[in-house]
Amino acid sequence: MDEKAVLDILDRTRARLEGHFRYTSGRHGAVYIQGAQVFQHAEMAEKLCRALAGKFSGVDAVIGPAVGAILMSYEVSRHLGCRNLFVERENGVFKLRRNFSITPGERILMVEDVVTTGGSVKEAMAVCREHGAEIIGVGALVDRTGGANPFDVLFEALVRLDIPSWTEEECPLCKEGIPCVKPGSRPAV
Ligand SMILES: [Zn+2]
Repeated sequence: MDEKAVLDILDRTRARLEGHFRYTSGRHGAVYIQGAQVFQHAEMAEKLCRALAGKFSGVDAVIGPAVGAILMSYEVSRHLGCRNLFVERENGVFKLRRNFSITPGERILMVEDVVTTGGSVKEAMAVCREHGAEIIGVGALVDRTGGANPFDVLFEALVRLDIPSWTEEECPLCKEGIPCVKPGSRPAV
């Protein structure tokens, strides 16, 4: 699956929006990515997850950090023919709950819809390693890292997006007077 086909699905599912946004960081930018939008549409999510699964082999289980990667983990595991589970936060800390277990030496693929700093994936990886997992790689739909693999294992993504952001003072869209939107809420003032 080439990057154009991936971007087409991100656009059709409204996982990628173009406009003028204020991000959580407070910086402004012209593109907003919300991976969860893709998983509203099983048929398109299936296409992406099948393509991602094809980049890995020798996987015993797929793990996604809750909540964002649970559906993705399930769908990727289906194409790899292995089991899937998830880690979730308890008092702010990732844990294996619900009687999920990892056998020492199990080869685990971590998945996440969008990787920017990779912080939550790294945290989830550490928990899996405490249980004896061998992390064989990280798979993402969108790589927003800017090109540097933040992980100590193989990192594969379907598409790499370098999204510029600016402070409000230097934002060219503000200078043009385009209304700024904080995703998920009312337009910012
Ligand atoms: Zn702006």
